[in-house]
Amino acid sequence: MESAWVDRDVAALIDRYAKDGVPAELALRVYTTRLLGSDPKLVLHGGGNTSVKTRVRDLLGEDVEVLCVKGSGWDMARIEPAGLPAVRLDPLKTLRSREALSDEDMVRIQRALLIDPMAPNPSVETLLHAFLPQKFVDHTHSTAVLSLTDQPDGAAVCREVYDGRLGVVPYLMPGFRLAKKAAAIHDVDPSVEGLILLKHGIFTFGHTAREAYERMIEMVSLAEARLRRGRKAVFATAQLPQRAASVAEVAPIVRGACSRKDEKIEGAYRRPILEFRTGPGILNYVNGADAARYARAGVVTPDHTIRTKNWPLIVAPPEAGKAGEFQLAIEAAVKSFVENYQAYFARNNLRCNHDKRMLDPMPRVVLVPGLGLFGLGRSKKDARIAADLAESAVATITDAEAIGRFEPIGEAEMFDVEYWSLEQAKLGKEPEQPLAGQVALVTGAAGAIGDATARALAGAGAEIALLDLDEERVCALAADIGGAALALPCDATDSRRVRAAFDAAVAGFGGVDIVVSNAGAAWQGRIGEVEEAVLRRSFELNFFAHQFVAQNAVRVMLAQGTGGALLFNVSKQAVNPGVDFGPYGLPKAATLLLARQYALEYGKHGIRANAVNADRIRSGLLTPELIAARAAARGLSEREYMAGNLLGRQVTAEDVARAFLYHATALKTTADVTTVDGGNIAAALR
Ligand code: ZN
Repeated sequence: MESAWVDRDVAALIDRYAKDGVPAELALRVYTTRLLGSDPKLVLHGGGNTSVKTRVRDLLGEDVEVLCVKGSGWDMARIEPAGLPAVRLDPLKTLRSREALSDEDMVRIQRALLIDPMAPNPSVETLLHAFLPQKFVDHTHSTAVLSLTDQPDGAAVCREVYDGRLGVVPYLMPGFRLAKKAAAIHDVDPSVEGLILLKHGIFTFGHTAREAYERMIEMVSLAEARLRRGRKAVFATAQLPQRAASVAEVAPIVRGACSRKDEKIEGAYRRPILEFRTGPGILNYVNGADAARYARAGVVTPDHTIRTKNWPLIVAPPEAGKAGEFQLAIEAAVKSFVENYQAYFARNNLRCNHDKRMLDPMPRVVLVPGLGLFGLGRSKKDARIAADLAESAVATITDAEAIGRFEPIGEAEMFDVEYWSLEQAKLGKEPEQPLAGQVALVTGAAGAIGDATARALAGAGAEIALLDLDEERVCALAADIGGAALALPCDATDSRRVRAAFDAAVAGFGGVDIVVSNAGAAWQGRIGEVEEAVLRRSFELNFFAHQFVAQNAVRVMLAQGTGGALLFNVSKQAVNPGVDFGPYGLPKAATLLLARQYALEYGKHGIRANAVNADRIRSGLLTPELIAARAAARGLSEREYMAGNLLGRQVTAEDVARAFLYHATALKTTADVTTVDGGNIAAALR
């Protein structure tokens, strides 16, 4: 591992912050914190923290000594001075003389000592930083260091590698006791350059930001050098099927098996979003004959547990074309995973004599031999975090096994961290959005109604896949919606392309729950004289494309086994034909019946099929030129024409989007047509 320190960057950052009155020491602290946070081999998703001891003026104008330490909720790679809240140092140091200090009191005292009362909570490892005398203190969960410490003889390995340059601290849960223990070990030999925290991570110190940072790089490099010596071959591969199933085939089954019925709302499910990862290192790991031992031994460092749980679900290798067998196998595996988790909870809750409430027992990481691994989360973001940590664990455990045997903290220690209130606080407690955990796919997404509907579904918490013929516009929409929104340029009349787009959405999120089949275009012609080709083209887009989309949706939804919503955009032409609009109205009428056919045949699988019947919406179909022409033909202003309905109101794409959103959540409604047209008796359904 090489130092990423660049003098020029440092000078530029100091200059930039000096303009806001940020002292150079704090700018330097920001700089090396970002360097550490940008390397996933050192820091991943909150696994690390840094501090500097300095002086600031408090709100009353008094000059005080403070510890500026990483605040919770800040990402080290993108930290700003505000992410290093200042805490009064002297009173923090006096805590060291106490015998005991509860976590709740520790947090309250730390908050009470903040210079800025609005600052974020200082890190849970604040006291460890405060009790050490050095000016700059850096802490990471380096994978190479963890590969050394997560061994039965980890302490001996570290002593040999570091030869007295680092103190070795036995495993204790983060908090007051660990801070005292680490300080005591430091005091035995104050010349140490840092500390190894067994089965947890590494600290380095320095008089300057550069010294602390470059010591981290040097110590991690020593660990890496040790990992290159005396390696044995890992892992012996298990017997695998000739032809492995594809991700698109496997993901919906994994997702369905890891979903649970919502006990409070009939027809609702708690579904995970999936993130798939594979590669030579991952395959070597998941294909190992001995995976059940090393992969289920536990977490490489304790704070992974809140994101990945203590062990992954391991499933039987899926064979191409044998989805049914895989489904049965994974259902049994999930059942036993949940039973194991419940037993683990009961055992440890009893031991603690605490009245803990059991967390969701479903897996967060699934290892699939022959294929790779899935991270699971309530959002794509959380799924990616789980997958990142799982990938990091694969690397750490592979190296640990290559030089010895992986042995992490024990079950009781993992439980204490998993059920530690301060760790749970990191997960946040925002109320869940109505479509959290669901994947919505919208066709014709670049048009006015598709665009508004995609935004409405994303706003309700769904992950979004956008299909449209117009590549440029659909990519721009995905970028604008942000998050993990997926742009899938696709001609909906090409059944092979539709299938490929569904496969991509499934590979991206694990499955599909809500499908808004919206792509359409209006062809005109007097029905007795219209060219056959025009009528056929309209049927391709306004009927067959809906059928291709619905067919693929049902295929994925049946594999998941958690129901779903099929939503069709049908025009008022489907029930109220207009002169010369036969080529448009006829396939739309067929699509209205198509929705009912799906409702009839798939209701028993929890798949609902509904349609929205909209009229007179400004869109690619009803262009400004067309509006002007029609209004003029009737002797109306454009507004009078657009609001020519019973309510006298103009109807917008957002109004239609709200109807789709309603249907996405209306668990007891199927075979319905919702009219959004301001009122048109001739098009009213009966
Ligand atoms: Zn840590």
